[in-house]
Amino acid sequence: MGNPKAFLEIGRQEAGYRPVHDRIHDFGEVEQTLSTRERKLQASRCMDCGVPFCHWACPLGNKAPEWNDALYKGDWELAYRLLNSTNPFPEFTGRICPALCEKACVLNRFNHEPTTNREDEAAITEMAFQEGFIQPRTDIKRNGKRVAVIGAGPAGLAAANDLNLMGYQVTVFEKNEAAGGLLRYGIPNFKLNKAIIDRRIGLLEAEGIEFRYGATVPAGSPAGSPAAAPAASSVSAESPVLSVATLSQQYDAVVLATGTPTARDLKAPGRELKGVHFALELLSQQNRVLAGIEFSKDERITAKGKDVLVIGGGDTGSDCIGTAHRQGCKSVTQIEIMPRPVEGPDDPQNPWPNWPRTLKTTSSHEEGCTRRWNINTLEFLGENGHLTGVKVQEIDWKPNPEGGRPIMVEKGKPEIIKAELVLLAMGFLKPEHPAYPQNVFVCGDSANGASLVVRAMASGKQTAQKVDKFLHDNA
Ligand SMILES: Cc1cc2nc3c(=O)[nH]c(=O)nc-3n(C[C@H](O)[C@H](O)[C@H](O)COP(=O)(O)OP(=O)(O)OC[C@H]3O[C@@H](n4cnc5c(N)ncnc54)[C@H](O)[C@@H]3O)c2cc1C
Ligand code: SF4
Repeated sequence: MGNPKAFLEIGRQEAGYRPVHDRIHDFGEVEQTLSTRERKLQASRCMDCGVPFCHWACPLGNKAPEWNDALYKGDWELAYRLLNSTNPFPEFTGRICPALCEKACVLNRFNHEPTTNREDEAAITEMAFQEGFIQPRTDIKRNGKRVAVIGAGPAGLAAANDLNLMGYQVTVFEKNEAAGGLLRYGIPNFKLNKAIIDRRIGLLEAEGIEFRYGATVPAGSPAGSPAAAPAASSVSAESPVLSVATLSQQYDAVVLATGTPTARDLKAPGRELKGVHFALELLSQQNRVLAGIEFSKDERITAKGKDVLVIGGGDTGSDCIGTAHRQGCKSVTQIEIMPRPVEGPDDPQNPWPNWPRTLKTTSSHEEGCTRRWNINTLEFLGENGHLTGVKVQEIDWKPNPEGGRPIMVEKGKPEIIKAELVLLAMGFLKPEHPAYPQNVFVCGDSANGASLVVRAMASGKQTAQKVDKFLHDNA
C-alpha cells in the first residue's frame, strides 16, 4: 500500500461518460479515461485490507490490492502480470464488468466511495498493450493431447486459453462467423468496441489456438421448450454440422461452452405481428451492421422514427434502449413486471459485502427513457400485420398467505402503449444437457444459466483445470 492515508484525502473519481449530445449519434464507447496521474491517484486509495472482500467478491479472485499497489507505484508491467495471473482477458472485464468487487470494497462500506477497480483494470491492460508487455507466448511446450472447445464466448475462450498455455492443442468450434459470443453479438459497441476482441483473438491464434467458424455442434436444449428462439447467429445452411459424440472420440476432451441461446418468449396474443422481436435480434444485427455485414430492407430491424417498447427491466433491455437511441427512435419506454427496486447504495435485503439489488441507472437510461415497474403485458395490437401498440396492465404483488411466490393482482384499468417496435428482453432459458461421454465438460452460461462475463470466464478457467486433472488421471 503506497499511501496509507490516500483513502482519507482523495475521493473516488470515475472517468465518466461522453456527454449525451455527443455519444448518442455514434456507436463509439461511451466511457472516457482518466489521465495517468489521476489513475495512479485512484489506485493509491486501495487500503490493502487484511481481509480483501474485493478479492472474495470477484469470481476470478482478482488480486485488486496487489495490482492497485503496483499501479500506484507506476510499475504498469507488474500490475498487468498480477492482473493477468487470475484474469485472462482484463480488457473485457475492465470495460463491461459490473464490478462485484467494488460493491464489496471496504471503502464502499465506509463512505460509498469504493476503489475504481474496473477502470483500473482497463487502464492497466491498455497500457500493457501499448507498451508491448503483452506478446504472444512462443515457449508453450505441447503435451501431444488435443482438446475441442465448442463456443467462442468468454467461457470457451478462457478455457481454450488456459488449456493452450498448459500445452494442449486446442481447436475452437464456433457457429458464428467470428469469436466473442455475447461480447461480440450481444453487448453493444458503445460498451465494448469489437476491435478489443479482435486484438485478443489475434493473440490467441498466434499462441496456437485454432478457430473454426461457421461450425455448429448441436448441444443441449432449452428447458421445457422444444422450439429454439432466434439467437445471435447468421450461419448459412451449408455450415458443417458436427456432433459432441464424434468430437469426444476425435479429441482427448471436449469443453462445451455454448451459452444460453434461447431467449424467454412472451406468448401473448399478437406475438406474430411484424415489429415484435427478441432483444438479441436487434442487438446482434446492429453489431453485425457495424462490422460491415449487409442486411436486406426486409431483414433489417430498426428503431428509426419509431416508438419503441422494451419489455424487461434488466441490462439487456438497457442495451436495447441505447441502441434504439442511436438508430434514431422517436421515443423509448421500458416496462418491468417486478416492483421498482430500492434506491440508494444500500440494499437492506442483501447488505454489504454482497451485491446490492438496488435501482440501476445505466448510460443508456441517462440518454432518455420512460421507465415503469409493476406492468404486465396483455396483448400485442396491430393493423395489417404490423405492430401498433401493446395492451398492458398495472399490477401489484401481494404476499402469498400460503408462503412462496407473491401473488400478482390487477390494479386499475388496462392501457395501451403506442409502439411500432417491441423488444423482448426477459432473460434466457438455461439449457438442459443429456448425459455426455465422461471426457465432455460443460461450462459458462450453458452450465450455470445466463450470468456475467466474469463468471463465464471463471467457469471456463475452472473447467480447464478439471479437463487437465481428468486427462492426467486417465493418462
Ligand atoms: C445483451 C447482453 C448484454 C450483456 N451485457 C453484459 C455486461 O455488460 N457485463 C457482463 O458481465 N455480462 C453481460 N452480459 C452477459 C454475458 O454476455 C454472458 O453471461 C456471457 O457472455 C456468457 O459467456 P458464455 O461463454 O458462457 O456464453 P456466450 O457468450 O453466449 O457464448 C457462447 C458461444 O457459443 C456459440 N455457440 C452456441 N451454440 C453453439 C453450437 N451449437 N455450436 C457451436 N457454437 C455454438 C455462440 O455462437 C457463442 O459464440 C450480457 C448479455 C446480453 C445478452
Ligand atoms: S473482474 Fe469484475 S469483479 Fe473482478 S476485479 Fe475486475 S471489475 Fe472487479
